[in-house]
Amino acid sequence: MTEKGITPRGENYSQWYLDIIERAELAENSSVRGCMVIKPYGYAIWEKIQKGLDKMIKESGVENAYFPLFIPKSFLSREASHIKGFAKECAIVTHHRLKETEDGKGVEVDPESKLEEELIVRPTSETIMYDTFSRWITSWRDLPLKLNQWANIVRWEKRTRPFLRTTEFLWQEGHTVHSTQKEAKEEVLGRLAMYTEFARQYLAMDMYFGKKSESEKFAGAVDTYGVEAMMQDGKALQFGTSHNLGQNFSKVFNIQYTDKKGELKYPWQTSWGVSTRMVGALVMAHSDDNGLVLPPSIAPVQVVLVPIFKDLNKEKIIRYTKDVYKEITRKIDNVKIDERDFVSVGFKFNEWEKKGIPIRVEIGEKEMKEGAVVLVRRDTLEKRNVKYGNVLDEVVLLLEEIQSSLYEKSKELLISKTHRIEEYKEFKKVFSENKGFALANWCGSKECEENIKYETKATTRCLRTEGEGVLGKCIYCGKESTEEWIFAKSY
Ligand SMILES: [Zn+2]
Repeated sequence: MTEKGITPRGENYSQWYLDIIERAELAENSSVRGCMVIKPYGYAIWEKIQKGLDKMIKESGVENAYFPLFIPKSFLSREASHIKGFAKECAIVTHHRLKETEDGKGVEVDPESKLEEELIVRPTSETIMYDTFSRWITSWRDLPLKLNQWANIVRWEKRTRPFLRTTEFLWQEGHTVHSTQKEAKEEVLGRLAMYTEFARQYLAMDMYFGKKSESEKFAGAVDTYGVEAMMQDGKALQFGTSHNLGQNFSKVFNIQYTDKKGELKYPWQTSWGVSTRMVGALVMAHSDDNGLVLPPSIAPVQVVLVPIFKDLNKEKIIRYTKDVYKEITRKIDNVKIDERDFVSVGFKFNEWEKKGIPIRVEIGEKEMKEGAVVLVRRDTLEKRNVKYGNVLDEVVLLLEEIQSSLYEKSKELLISKTHRIEEYKEFKKVFSENKGFALANWCGSKECEENIKYETKATTRCLRTEGEGVLGKCIYCGKESTEEWIFAKSY
């Protein structure tokens, strides 16, 4: 373990991840198994994600709404493959009242309060929303309908890990309804592009995106598309999906509209979402053995000013620090001064490093006398001495530099650890030695996919070349195929 109380990545990547979550004070386990408490700093990162993404969603003509947490069991079971996919992870409400036990010492479920129809705590909201949509949509004038909901979701997971897999999590789910299949398909791909753009711009992460295989698609969808990022250990993390639902749901929920010719039609639907999993992806993508590393665009605090003082010079140093603060906040909003006098300077440096604040500004007696400050960037820990008059320009420049260098690093990792593979022997080696992703042709058969998973633990992540086609042989059975797929072990 390092002096910061973090297990090095090279030693144990999973433990390293948990240590970062704890040391950066992002989240902790709760008394409810599988459910986490998101602490203020972790929540502030989620709020930054929400803010950035919500803006993109609204700019594309989508409105936010809110639907109930509970779904009648009969709704969830209406679409056959949908219920099949979610049946094993449902939380079910059966009663609505407690009563005192006979000995008067406790409470128990009142059997007389049994619900007529059991309610499912939403694992996703297609069914409850589409029941409503069937009343909202009657004419071609009502289309397209584009809604988004920010909500919590419950999926009863057996194995959980903070942010990556939790029984309850937060997310946004977008739902759209269209009059043509073409328009729905465009929407599905447009959302995929939106998530990719968001991840690049805000999270400084590069990734692959594309269609998922039959076995990996959303329960009830015609096609699912996913965004797949590479973590530092070479594993994949899917943090966004976009589903083409076809008419699967409109038919069972009886959503119909009259078109311009007066004919009754079933519309085409999509749904798409990202969750607090994104926070986990962000942590795993950039952090190091000293703690969290955050891209400036998503950091709740971008710059922290640490005045270094003793009792004698405290007043003067704080005054100078406040001048520097004023200067920097002319252009940067998220700046903080750490004036605490009950912890040491070393403690402060450590804390801000663990929390991944992009720039630390050190201001001591020497800097004050020189009319300068020391800037320390979190990603490389490089220090620069900067004159007071240049501090604003230098900070702005440095924030941009950190953002783009983190993105370049992520891109470089993705490219350097993706291997085009022709031979199954080589393919197995990629995964036995944890070398990253494999790019290989696959014939599309479920059998080959299952055998590959069984023998290497790698799964199909997404189709790399939709429409283009790369002629080759299935990596498992050798049959000719034009589809090149990304394979990886995944979180
Ligand atoms: Zn095959």
